[in-house]
Amino acid sequence: MKSRTFTTINDESCGWVHTTARAQEFPQLKEDRQVDWVIVGAGFTGLAAANRIAELRPDDSIILLDAEQAGKGASSRNSGYIVDITLNDGGSTLADEQTQLAKNKLNRAGLDLLRQQVGHYGIECDWDESGKFHCAAYHRNIPKLKNFETFLERAGLDHQVWSKQRLSERLGTDYYLHAVQTKAGVLVNPAALVNGLIANLPGSVALYEHTPALQIDHGEEICIKTPQATIRADRAIIAVNALMPKNGFKSNRVFPLTLTASLTRPLTPGEHDSIGGPDPWGVLSASSMGATVRFTNDHRILVRNTVEWWPDLAMDEYALVKRRQKNLSGLRKRFPGLGNLEFEYTWSGNVCISRNSKPVFEQDKNLFLAGCYNAGGVAMGSLFGKLIVDYALDQPSEQLTQVLDQEKPTLIPPRPLLDIGLQTRLAFNRYFGRSEA
Ligand SMILES: Cc1cc2nc3c(=O)[nH]c(=O)nc-3n(C[C@H](O)[C@H](O)[C@H](O)COP(=O)(O)OP(=O)(O)OC[C@H]3O[C@@H](n4cnc5c(N)ncnc54)[C@H](O)[C@@H]3O)c2cc1C
Repeated sequence: MKSRTFTTINDESCGWVHTTARAQEFPQLKEDRQVDWVIVGAGFTGLAAANRIAELRPDDSIILLDAEQAGKGASSRNSGYIVDITLNDGGSTLADEQTQLAKNKLNRAGLDLLRQQVGHYGIECDWDESGKFHCAAYHRNIPKLKNFETFLERAGLDHQVWSKQRLSERLGTDYYLHAVQTKAGVLVNPAALVNGLIANLPGSVALYEHTPALQIDHGEEICIKTPQATIRADRAIIAVNALMPKNGFKSNRVFPLTLTASLTRPLTPGEHDSIGGPDPWGVLSASSMGATVRFTNDHRILVRNTVEWWPDLAMDEYALVKRRQKNLSGLRKRFPGLGNLEFEYTWSGNVCISRNSKPVFEQDKNLFLAGCYNAGGVAMGSLFGKLIVDYALDQPSEQLTQVLDQEKPTLIPPRPLLDIGLQTRLAFNRYFGRSEA
C-alpha cells in the first residue's frame, strides 16, 4: 500500500461528544514498536477486538491506533440505538424471515456483550432497556408496519402495537399515526458508552490517538507507518468501517454515506410538561429516508433526517448549517408547540454500505478486516470485533460459522458511475420518503 496523508473527517460539533465528560487523553505514537497485534481504528469494532485478544491471549502485546480521538468517529456520532431488529432489514416483505432472524441472533449477541461490559465496569451511558418505536406518520407506510408486526408475531419477538392516541401520550407528539415497539433493543448515549469502554481497556492494550496509519504493508509481518513511527506486528486487525475505501480496502465493494444529526438543549421543566412529561424514547421511521428522533434522558430532542453521498466525508460549518435547517424542519413538524426551540449541536458522521447489505469479515494472510454494518454497527461492530479475533485464533463458535457463511458484499460500479447511481437512488428515496423526514 502506498504512503499517503490522512485528513481528519470528524467535525467538532457532535452533541453526544460535547455533553459527555472524557476521563483521559491518550498519547500519539512517537517511537517504533514491535508487537504481537496492531488494531487500526478505535471504535466499537476495534475496542471489542482489543478486549477479545486480551481475554484469549493475556500475554500478547497490542497496539490500538486511532487517526483522531479514539471513539470519536461514527461510534460516538450515531443515534444510540443498540438494535435487536430493524424494519429496514427486510421485515416489510416477509420473504427473508430466515435472514432476518439470523441477523437478529447476531445483534442480540453483540448487545449482550455490551450489556455485560456496561454492567461489569459500571459504565454510565444512560443505558435504557425500553426498546424502540417504529413509527409511521402517513397512512401509506402503515402496511409496512403491519407486515413487520406479523413477522414479529411469527418469530416470537417481544413487541407492542401502539395506536395514535396512546402513542401521542407516550411520545409527547401527535405526529405519528401508528407504531410497533420492539422491546429487546437498548438506547444509550453512544459517546458515553464508547468512552466507558476506552477507559476500561485491559492493561495489555496501548492506545495511541491522533496517530493515523499512513501505510499498511503485510507480508511475513505487518508493517504500519504512522507520521512519527513504524509499527511491526505479527497480525493486524483493520476496524475502520466507513473509512475502508479511504484506507485502500474494499473500494470496489463498499461505500460510505454521510448522515447529519442535531441535538437541542435540554427542555425546561415547563416545556417538558407542555408535551405531557414523557419518559425518554427512540423512534425509527417506517420509511428508509424518514427521521430518527430521540427524546433523551436529559430531555433533549435529537433529529437525524439526512442521508447523502458526500465523497469528502467531512462536512464543514457551512454544509452543517444547511443540514441543520432540514433537521429543524423535522423538529418543528413533530413539536410545533415548542415554537422557538433551537438545536445546540449539529454534526455529521459516516456509515458503511454495501450493495447487497452484507458486511465485510475476512482474512488476507495475517491481516484481518471487519466492518460495513450497513448503518447498524453498535451491536454488530462489537460482535464482529470479537469474532474477527476468534477467526484469527481459530476459536470456533456457532456465531463465527454463521458470519463466515454469509454472502460477501457484491461489486459496486466504479466512480463516476457510482456517483450517478447513488445520487439518483438517494434523490428518488428522498422524494418518496419526504413526508416522514
Ligand atoms: C449519524 C449516525 C447514526 C447512526 N446511528 C446508529 C444507531 O443508532 N445504531 C447503530 O447500531 N448504528 C448506528 N450508526 C452506525 C454505527 O455508528 C457504526 O456502524 C459503528 O459505530 C461502527 O463502528 P466501527 O468501530 O466499526 O467504526 P468507527 O466508529 O467509524 O471507528 C473507526 C475508527 O477508525 C479510525 N480510522 C480510520 N482510518 C484510520 C487510519 N488510517 N489510522 C488510524 N485510525 C483510523 C477512525 O478515526 C475511527 O475512529 C450510525 C452512524 C451514524 C454516522
